Amino acid sequence: MRADKTLLQGDHRVVVKVGSALLVDRKDGIRQQWLASLASDLAALADTGTQLLLVSSGAIALGRKLLDLPERSLKLDESQAAAAVGQIALGRAWSEALDKHGLVAGQVLLTLHDTEGRGGRRRYLNARDTLERLIGLRALPVINENDTIATSEIRYGDNDRLAARVATMANADLLVLLSDVDGLYDAPPATNANARFIEHVPRITPQIEAMAGSAASTRSRGGMVTKIEAGKIATASGTAMVIASGTRSHPIRALLDGERASWFDAQKITESARKTWIAGQLETVGRIILDAGAVAALRSGKSLLPAGVTQVEGRFSRGDAVTIAAPDGSALGHGLIGYNDTDARKIIGLRSDQWETALGYAGRPALIHRDDMALDPTMRHDGTDTARQSDTEQTLER
Ligand code: GLU
Repeated sequence: MRADKTLLQGDHRVVVKVGSALLVDRKDGIRQQWLASLASDLAALADTGTQLLLVSSGAIALGRKLLDLPERSLKLDESQAAAAVGQIALGRAWSEALDKHGLVAGQVLLTLHDTEGRGGRRRYLNARDTLERLIGLRALPVINENDTIATSEIRYGDNDRLAARVATMANADLLVLLSDVDGLYDAPPATNANARFIEHVPRITPQIEAMAGSAASTRSRGGMVTKIEAGKIATASGTAMVIASGTRSHPIRALLDGERASWFDAQKITESARKTWIAGQLETVGRIILDAGAVAALRSGKSLLPAGVTQVEGRFSRGDAVTIAAPDGSALGHGLIGYNDTDARKIIGLRSDQWETALGYAGRPALIHRDDMALDPTMRHDGTDTARQSDTEQTLER
């Protein structure tokens, strides 16, 4: 998928990562004017229907200032204390800035374990589900690493990679890294007058990685290397990325106006690779039992709508693999479910115009999108079936 500014607006999901150097001034604390300009940009995106998640750094920098800590590099316990103090102020600053535009902020502090699934799949699913629910409730997640408890072995340490994990966890279309550099150069721009700006990166090759190694950003914690690592994580999972300058006010508006930045394409996850992966999900966590009409609809290549479901079994989150079963309980295949089990139970048997009342928010178009299903060979349609689905059904479930 070619990365460009169209991914910022409309029915897209976007993670915006803000670096400490942009948000916090060592002497004055939060750069309120800049924050206000970004909040207004975010509100403008939300108005177009964009679903937003924010990853904001700045807790340690802000805490350091509030505690009046010395200029030297901090010891671990000092930076953890600084993060504790700074995070409260950071959360409040975001909440107040977004509130001016009628946006509600929700603070989410994550650790490496929550995002990598290493601390157990439940924590990962739980984190993912909370983010999903916040978005469903039209709140804007403001995310940071839980620096106060994360010690070095279990720490990201930089929010570039954290933001990339968040983006893949939330199935985002685009990750925006706002930084004190305006993008990727093929040589260090500070020392090499001939350094060329790279506007479009179709794929992160070893050559691109080598450029990042030489062209480090001076102030941001991550530097260009972690940004390219973030890009590898994001683009491999189908999320495009852009590295853009945040040093000016209204940085997102500037991107929309065409200001130069480095855009990284999302790698296409081929349909067959995806279906093979879905089919290989042996451990399904729930079962969806269909009526005969829904079985026929699936056979002709359609998505699974709630109306054709008679029963939901098990506990699951959106994106989990579930078994799709015939009225007699026999398995027809696997699918990645579009709703958690609580919400799925609320809408089974209902027509699309009844979902919103049942859920309390506008639902997603399908219970299981056809691209998210791997059916047993006997169920597969022969490809000659051109049955078209309604426009809403065609809107791809991410
Ligand atoms: N989590 C750190 C903080 O909020 C920032 C990490 C980074 O700068 O990438 O202070």
